[in-house]
Amino acid sequence: MKAIRLHGPHDLRGDEIPEPPAPAADQVTIAVTAVGVCGSDLHLYETGGIGGRVVEDPVILGHEFAGTVIATGSDSRAEDGERLRVGDRVAVDPAIPCGHCESCRNGHPNLCPDHFFFGVPPDDGSLCERLNVPARNCYRVPANVSDAAAAMLEPLGVAIHALDLGRVRPGDTVVIFGAGPIGLLLLVLARIAGAREVHVFEPMAARRAHAKKAGATTWPGTAEGTAESVVRPLLEATGGRGADVGFEAADAGNSVDQTFAATRIGGRVVLVGIPAHDRTEFGHATPRRKGLTVRFARRMKHTYPRALALIEHPLMQGVLDGLVSHQFDLARSADAYALAMGLADGVVKAIITPQS
Ligand SMILES: [Zn+2]
Ligand SMILES: [Zn+2]
Repeated sequence: MKAIRLHGPHDLRGDEIPEPPAPAADQVTIAVTAVGVCGSDLHLYETGGIGGRVVEDPVILGHEFAGTVIATGSDSRAEDGERLRVGDRVAVDPAIPCGHCESCRNGHPNLCPDHFFFGVPPDDGSLCERLNVPARNCYRVPANVSDAAAAMLEPLGVAIHALDLGRVRPGDTVVIFGAGPIGLLLLVLARIAGAREVHVFEPMAARRAHAKKAGATTWPGTAEGTAESVVRPLLEATGGRGADVGFEAADAGNSVDQTFAATRIGGRVVLVGIPAHDRTEFGHATPRRKGLTVRFARRMKHTYPRALALIEHPLMQGVLDGLVSHQFDLARSADAYALAMGLADGVVKAIITPQS
């Protein structure tokens, strides 16, 4: 069968690989229906590594994915304990934590140092026609949720976890730097959580339009702009006070400094963006003088059931499908990556559909 493997920086190839074996007792085989191209995939594509994990052997990317069950093991129970059946459409949590380390035992599987993660080297992901996954990582999706939207439950889960870390309260003012998929999902989640106002800074006009449509006050500027110049409109809009909670969902240019400058004294900042070369720089005085609480978001934990439940929320209607700006079949995966990498054609989320 066909799989798209990363052989090194900018080197994605369509390779012929063996079919997955019959699923083990606790596994299912899925036909992959949709795979999202994520910012972290782009880091791997650009540099051949991420956060210390490096592509040594060719690796199949793809951690945001959904599929249809085509074979089951003898005891293939989904996360809810119910047996999965052939034909079930599922979204797949890409993380398999060890289950017994200190982090796992304390309820932080996202911090497990000894985990498997689909699509981050050396672990193969989902950019292929079929693969075996643990049944307990599968979440059945309702018929009215598209395959692309089912794959988007992964970034929605990441955004939910970041929102949890920011502890947005009803009536809070929120600022978000970056209106990519995570920033846009955070915007909707902040509104669902009761934020009074959500301000979004985004240099790209097409993405600003998405944020505006989703209920944000937006303003333009350049990612490289100094914190002082970029946050002026936000400070004017908030009487000089700034936002209660700031989310940095870009990690481009000066976005960390900008987020600190936009957040009020004593406020909270969550860093969700991942820097391309694993370095983040920011001035020390602003966050120190303000006594900011800064948290780093690491993937997600226990968020898939909430992501699924939120699909029904009035403010979430059409949001996941609305973020899917482009779809490609498996053979055109390299085109999907090139488009997302170049931020071309108003791209928000590119989805690859291996069954089409
Ligand atoms: Zn992702
Ligand atoms: Zn663990």
